[in-house]
Amino acid sequence: MEKVFQNRLVLEILERYKVIWSIEHAMALLGWDSETYMPEDGVEERSVAVSQLDLLKQKFLTDENFMKLVDRANEEKDLNEYEVGLLRVLNRMIRIYRLLPPRLVEELAKVTEEAKVVWRNAKINNNFQAFKPYLEKIFSLSRECAEHLGYREHPYDALLDLYEEGLTSREVGQIFDSIKGELKTILERVQSEGVFSKKHPLEEMEYDMEAMKKVNLWVAERLGYDRRRFRIDVSAHPFTVHMGLRDARITTRYEGKDFKSTLFSVIHEYGHALYGLQHNESFIFTPLADGASLGVHESQSRFWENIVGRSMQFSSAIYPFLRENLNFLKNFSAEDLYVYFNVVRPTLIRVDADEVTYNFHILVRYNLEKVTVNGEVKVEDLPTLWNSMIEEALGVRPKKDSEGILQDIHWSLGSIGYFPTYTIGTILSAQIRRHILKDVPDFYERISKLDFGEVKAWLKNRIHYWGAMYPPKELIKRMLGEEISPAYFIEYLKEKYLSDR
Ligand code: MG
Repeated sequence: MEKVFQNRLVLEILERYKVIWSIEHAMALLGWDSETYMPEDGVEERSVAVSQLDLLKQKFLTDENFMKLVDRANEEKDLNEYEVGLLRVLNRMIRIYRLLPPRLVEELAKVTEEAKVVWRNAKINNNFQAFKPYLEKIFSLSRECAEHLGYREHPYDALLDLYEEGLTSREVGQIFDSIKGELKTILERVQSEGVFSKKHPLEEMEYDMEAMKKVNLWVAERLGYDRRRFRIDVSAHPFTVHMGLRDARITTRYEGKDFKSTLFSVIHEYGHALYGLQHNESFIFTPLADGASLGVHESQSRFWENIVGRSMQFSSAIYPFLRENLNFLKNFSAEDLYVYFNVVRPTLIRVDADEVTYNFHILVRYNLEKVTVNGEVKVEDLPTLWNSMIEEALGVRPKKDSEGILQDIHWSLGSIGYFPTYTIGTILSAQIRRHILKDVPDFYERISKLDFGEVKAWLKNRIHYWGAMYPPKELIKRMLGEEISPAYFIEYLKEKYLSDR
C-alpha cells in the first residue's frame, strides 16, 4: 500500500481520528440494522443510542486538543495533496459540528430516529396527520441548523451544502431552468411517438420471490458483486451503507410485481457500493474514505442503473438468464424487455419514475423544501401543495398522501436539502457517459458481453480512487476537465428516446 500520509502531525491526527471513525462505523451499522432487521419496538432505545453516539462524535471532533492539533497541521508547509485533502475534510467537519449546539444535534438525531418509524406507519396507513408533528419539528430544527451554519442568500443554501459542498439554491434553480423546458418537450414527443409511453404488460406480471432473488444475485454477480466485501438485504427504501473500505451493504425491496423495480434498485445501489469499494486503500480509517458528495455518489448509482442497466445492450445480455428464471418472460423478446425497462410515463412515485420524468419529482421537492425552510409555507399545507405541484409538472394528481407527500423516507431522516443531489447525479451520469465514450469507444460492445473491467477502471481512476479528497466541483473539473453541464443529459435522452435523433 502506498504511504500517502507522512506528516508527523497528520499521522497523530489520524491516530486520534480512529475513535471518531469507530463511532461512525458503529452508527453506520446501527442505521443499517434499524432499516433491515431491528424489531419495531426497538426504536426508542435505538434512538437514544444513535443520538448519544452522534454527540460523542461531536465531542471528539470539537475537543480542544484535537482542534489545536488540526490547527497546527493547517500551518504546516510541505503537506502533500492527500494531507491537504484530509485537512480540508476535517476542517469542514469541525466547522459544522462547532457551529451546531450539542442540544440541536441531540434533538435532531433523536427526533429523526423516532420519525423514521412514525413515517413508515403513516405511509402504510395513509395518515399524514400522524407524521405532521414530526415533520414540523424536523423542518424547524433544520431551519435552526441553517441559522447556526450560516448562508449568504437563502437558509436552504446552508442545508444544501451539507450534502453537496458549495451548492447553492441559485445554482440548483439554474440547472432546473435549463432542463425543465427540454424535458417537457421530450416527454411530449415520447408520448406522441408512443413507443416508450405505452403501459407495458410486464408491469403487471407477478414474480416469484425466490426466482427474483436469484435473478438479482446473478445480475449483481455479473456487475462484480463480491461476497467477501458486500451484502444484499431487504428494506422498505433501498439504500447503500459503507461500513468501511471493505464492507458495503445494499438493500432492495420486493413488491411482488413489476420486477424492474427490485432489479434496478440492486443495480442502482451496486453503483453506490462500487464507489466506496474502489477508494484508495490508504484512506482506511480516515474521513477520506467517502464520496466527494451525494451528487457525485448518485452519479455513480445512476450511471449503472440508467446508462448501463437500461441500455439495449444490457437488456439483451441479461435476457436469456431472465427468461430462463422468470417464467412470464416466455412470450416476450429482448426488445420487449428493453422497452419495459424504459417505459416513459408520468407517474406519482419518484423511485419508480423513468429517466424523462424523474427530475420533475425532484423539482417539486426542491421547491417545497425551499419555501418550507424559509417559513413561507406551513407543514400542514404541504400535502395539498404537493399534489397541485405534481399535477402541474406531470399532469397526474395523487389521490392519497401515501402516493404523494408520504412516499419518501428522506424528510423523516431530517435530510432536507438532499433531493437536489439526485438531479445533480443524474446529470453527471450522462456527462460521465460522454467522457467514457471518448476513452472507451467500445463501451456498448463491452456491455453486450457483460464485460465491465474497463469501465470500472475508468471510474476508479477518475472518481472512486480519490474518495473525499476534493470538493465535488473541483473533482468534476479535474476528472472531466469541465464543470457540470446539463446539456449532455438532454442530448442523451433525445438520442435514446426520440426516433429522429
Ligand atoms: Mg442513490
